[in-house]
Amino acid sequence: MSIKSNIKTVQQRINAAAKEAGRNPEEIKLIAVSKTKPVSDVLEAFDAGMCDFGENRPQELAEKYSVLPQARWHLIGQLQRNKVKYIIDKAFLIHSVDSIRLAEEIEKRAGAVDKIQNILIQVNISGEESKSGIKPAETEELCRQISLMKHIHICGLMTISVNGIGYDGNLKIFSELKRLSQNIDKLKIPGVSMKELSMGMTHDYEAAVAAGATMVRVGSGIFGARNYNV
Ligand SMILES: *Cc1c(COP(=O)(O)O)cnc(C)c1O
Repeated sequence: MSIKSNIKTVQQRINAAAKEAGRNPEEIKLIAVSKTKPVSDVLEAFDAGMCDFGENRPQELAEKYSVLPQARWHLIGQLQRNKVKYIIDKAFLIHSVDSIRLAEEIEKRAGAVDKIQNILIQVNISGEESKSGIKPAETEELCRQISLMKHIHICGLMTISVNGIGYDGNLKIFSELKRLSQNIDKLKIPGVSMKELSMGMTHDYEAAVAAGATMVRVGSGIFGARNYNV
């Protein structure tokens, strides 16, 4: 299958899941996760109409940004503080902020380039120890602390579900993130928006759309399986 036809299929399935849930499909942005894939694949997806790309490695994001700066580049993977400098002038949205120390580094670097960096707070809903993300119970306090930083804007929350738990299992996890975002939204923390919910990947994006995702991050469903051995 070509990248172009894969994009069409994924978009159709997003639209169908949205209608099924009584949502407007236009509320849901598809992010093409191009990590490990060559620039030629990114260009093919861009030509097919994709504007939003996700990368999990800062250097890879920076390299691909230099080829296609007109696209929106999303940093979706774990971000080490010493790597923030590679992407601060390039990232449209950082999905994976889960600590005050990381936020402090982003604040410092964003201030230096006179930018307000849009971010999401990554929450570990499932509680798996291997997963990044802040605990749900600590999310409000992290939002409050980051809200005081002048060069960061919180736009919402992000989570990753668990492999192999099926539609209902995913729906439960994604619904918990939605509930958490609604609870934080009610607090009306100045400068904190809960507009965006980044959740859903190739194997669970339909459950995410049903639960209220505004951004889904699809990699292999668009570009094919990744080969980490090359
Ligand atoms: C790799 C990755 C994705 C995309 O995964 P697929 O299963 O290939 O769709 C989405 N989100 C994050 C955080 C990722 O690291």
